[in-house]
Amino acid sequence: MNNQDCIFCKIVAGDIPCFKIYETGNILSFLDIGPVNKGHALVIPKNHYKNIWDFPAELGAEVLTAAQVVGDAIVKATGADGMNILMNNNAAAGQLVFHAHFHLIPRFKNDGFKLWKQSEYDNMDEASALAQKIEKMIRSVN
Ligand code: AMP
Ligand code: ZN
Repeated sequence: MNNQDCIFCKIVAGDIPCFKIYETGNILSFLDIGPVNKGHALVIPKNHYKNIWDFPAELGAEVLTAAQVVGDAIVKATGADGMNILMNNNAAAGQLVFHAHFHLIPRFKNDGFKLWKQSEYDNMDEASALAQKIEKMIRSVN
């Protein structure tokens, strides 16, 4: 499964280069070309799935294993103190490459990056109603 216009499909096909660090039958990992911190890598399925919802759950264990193996190696190779593992899904969430991928970002105690500012619910009723709405949505689609 390959998308002709997709930069990550071209990397998988070997049509454009990457700094490859890990590969299995279904998974590829390589350095992000614009690292948040040096050592920032991507873990991608070789097949073209556009986001988390398009992604087959059967690949989940292979991706998690890749994230653990590659993540551990990045931490050791860079001397990082921690790591953020995240995925952007759809443009509103910052997705720029529409081939599903997980970011492995090594973090250092004083790297100065802050996670998002958190907000709050107006009251507990609002939180409870939203939790129930989401729960109902899960039941209706599964
Ligand atoms: P996202 O915003 O989650 O879609 O992230 C896309 C990521 O892909 C960005 O962090 C880019 O720096 C990275 N990227 C784009 N093109 C390449 C490439 N040819 N090789 C490695 N990383 C890339
Ligand atoms: Zn692709």
